[in-house]
Amino acid sequence: MNQTTVHVYPSSDALDRRIREAMASLVPVTFVSCSDLTACAEGDAVLNVSGDREVIEGLRGRKIRSFHAPTGTTGDNEAPADGRTIHFTRSRVLDERLRGRSLAHEPLRGYSGLRTAPGDEVLACCGENPVWIVREQEGLPIHLVSVPLPALLPGEVPFHRLHAARFFELLPLLHFLREVTASSGWKSPPLRACMMLDDPNLHWPSYGFLRYEKLAQQAKARRFHVALATVPLDAWIAHPGAVKLFRDHPEQLSLLVHGNDHSKHELSQSRSKENYLRLAAQSLRRMNRFERSTGLPVARIMAPPHGGFVSNCLAALLTAGFEGACASFGDLFERNSELFGGSTFGLAPAAVAPESVPVMSRFKLDPSCEGAIVLSAFLDRPIILVGHHHTAADGLELLAHTAEMVNSLGEVSWGSPEMMLRSNFRTCQENTTLWIEPYSCRIHLTVPQGITDLGLYPPRCSVPNADLEFALRVKRGSHLLGQQKMNDTPLKVMAGDRIELVSLSLGKVDYRKVENPESSLSLRAFPRRLLCEFRDRSMPLIPSDLIPDKWTSG
Ligand SMILES: [Zn+2]
Repeated sequence: MNQTTVHVYPSSDALDRRIREAMASLVPVTFVSCSDLTACAEGDAVLNVSGDREVIEGLRGRKIRSFHAPTGTTGDNEAPADGRTIHFTRSRVLDERLRGRSLAHEPLRGYSGLRTAPGDEVLACCGENPVWIVREQEGLPIHLVSVPLPALLPGEVPFHRLHAARFFELLPLLHFLREVTASSGWKSPPLRACMMLDDPNLHWPSYGFLRYEKLAQQAKARRFHVALATVPLDAWIAHPGAVKLFRDHPEQLSLLVHGNDHSKHELSQSRSKENYLRLAAQSLRRMNRFERSTGLPVARIMAPPHGGFVSNCLAALLTAGFEGACASFGDLFERNSELFGGSTFGLAPAAVAPESVPVMSRFKLDPSCEGAIVLSAFLDRPIILVGHHHTAADGLELLAHTAEMVNSLGEVSWGSPEMMLRSNFRTCQENTTLWIEPYSCRIHLTVPQGITDLGLYPPRCSVPNADLEFALRVKRGSHLLGQQKMNDTPLKVMAGDRIELVSLSLGKVDYRKVENPESSLSLRAFPRRLLCEFRDRSMPLIPSDLIPDKWTSG
């Protein structure tokens, strides 16, 4: 498959190894050292990290794309540039997802100032200062940034410099590398989004500040989707009116799993994998019963109550049959840096590691979430905004306004977290072969016209040796053609075939036969959950200034 060589001047050692690894996983590039730029050929790409701007003169008259960063450090002791917002201009050179955005940013460190020349186009400013410009030379772009490429600290991964609050040290580089590899044939998943509200159940057609009918109407009118992360312990009963609303609005409303008993730090305690397996199996049995009695599907995707996951839990979820999970990536890394410590963590459509469910990023739905939305979109991750019933305490305007912001990014598919995970893969067409690079353990796709073979490409953004074996099922019409283990040799398919790829690690154990957790239906969990529900449901009756902060801080 097409690889683009990027010549790093004066040496690729000047670029942090973890950054080289991450970038080479995100885009098909190979970095090579280049101490003599006269050796570069027409059409090559150059990354100049020498800080010597004279290099630009040296490239004059040659058809070479280049990126120039100053030298220096971005350490905390460096004086920051003025302004704490990065303003992206409306330049056509910029990725559509960035154009015209003003995103809050931590103070820029190591800033060295950029002198513009006539004809330069400013791509981004911080305060009044241009921090990223593009200059055309021989019809090809030269990118100049005012901030050095970072030297990561021990224990850091590139994600720490490419996230919602601090992205500018690496974003222009990734943008440039995407530009030089645009014709490689790789395609990322489309823009997908979902709002996720933790805790509500279907005991009544409302929950706290939420009225499900209004929610469905608003979601339809303002084009968004809400997935309720509901507690399996609550799934013993459902109100027929609430069930009907969900059944009538599958495009707007869906359900996923939120813990099991919703006890404190339920999925982040130090427990054995065996104990987590019991918990995961019980939650699936409870949801299965709910599905049979209501006819409503519940996505096999786990949203953690009270924070995050530990690795034993992520492994047990996969074994029990959960297709995925979602979590704050900052928290996921902090608790599981050994599992997810690879350089590509947080930059791919999902975090994938051996013996773990794939984890999608989710972040808080609040009035200041634009940066997180744009970064998720830019990194081709599903956009998952999380809130609670009290996110709608002042009505549904925050949800509708946020949906508008998401919809302004381009063509967005709103849907359930299940839809997101099943479409979480990259593709590359090579002649009539379609290669799939999976970031999910269950994938659905319809074979496009012109494709005769389907191959599996190992995910580049995963921890090395992640054991990802898939079974392939092909449905032609309603006919199941067979099941076959995926291997390196592409398999024959026909345009229009409906394909399902399922990881062999998914659901290795029959959850119906796993024992209950030892603390199953303990005398504490059930009354505690009822009390929480009573508290949530009575909250709209209490004047807002009398609602204790801790009721709305979860
Ligand atoms: Zn919760």
